[in-house]
Amino acid sequence: MIEEKLSTHKSTLEKFIEAANRKKILAQKCVKCGHLMLETVFFCEKCAGNKFEQVDLEGSGIVVTYTIQAVVPEGFEDVGSYAWVVFKLDNAPLRASGLLPGIKTPADLPIGTKVRVAGYDSKHGLMLQK
Ligand SMILES: [Zn+2]
Repeated sequence: MIEEKLSTHKSTLEKFIEAANRKKILAQKCVKCGHLMLETVFFCEKCAGNKFEQVDLEGSGIVVTYTIQAVVPEGFEDVGSYAWVVFKLDNAPLRASGLLPGIKTPADLPIGTKVRVAGYDSKHGLMLQK
């Protein structure tokens, strides 16, 4: 039973990665009410429906908030200073987060800056670009 759940989860992650590498965001759409969610859930948070379909959303949006990591932790030397960015998707009422390299100060990244999904890094997760 547990193994079954893990393999389902893994395939969803694999699909998310595959979508990110196509510059898309994979979301779950409630078949009953159309509500969109980023995470895999068992029941829709709006209508409690339990059927979902996976949809690709355009991986572009605007920066809502972020945290700059100026001191580069071990394992992140390849990206240098970067920001963990929360962005609101252009075409859906959803927020996603990812890593945007090359950000040193808030002047590099005003709130409202447009960002796009650049791909998925096995170490860092969702990668963004301006
Ligand atoms: Zn629903």
